Amino acid sequence: MSQFASEGQVIAGHEYTKQAIYDKNDIDIAYKVATLKEKDGSVSAANGRATPREWYQRRVIDVTYNAANVKTISMYSKIQTMMHESFIHETYFAGDAMDDRSFNYSNVPGTFSGNPHHYKTRESNSMFSTQGYKLMLKMNKIYKAHKNSNGVWNDMWNFAH
Ligand SMILES: [Zn+2]
Repeated sequence: MSQFASEGQVIAGHEYTKQAIYDKNDIDIAYKVATLKEKDGSVSAANGRATPREWYQRRVIDVTYNAANVKTISMYSKIQTMMHESFIHETYFAGDAMDDRSFNYSNVPGTFSGNPHHYKTRESNSMFSTQGYKLMLKMNKIYKAHKNSNGVWNDMWNFAH
């Protein structure tokens, strides 16, 4: 976990200017590890989840890593999860709160099928597909995931609709 935290700081450092903008707009990001559950109470198979909430004047985005998977997935996969939650969901939830101070999906198109953040990520030249890809190429080398560049790219995009 300490290794995970230090990689998180790399991402946080990368995102430093963005954090300042978030703070100015009363937005907080809270990272934690906890068991993720589905609506029916069963343990989720997902590695991570981002959930928005309002806390007095603050708009908080909780990014949770699934404790059920933390021990079994590789460091490469953990960072990929963190990159997904941060570069996709955290970014779009923050943008959502920034325009009108409420989490109402005001920054994504109204008509789509599936997850609105995933939809927008697919439709645009997003931070996920540019900086996220660069980060994962680097992590592939550091953690010797032994993937070629296509493999890294395809892994990134292997998420539910
Ligand atoms: Zn997602």
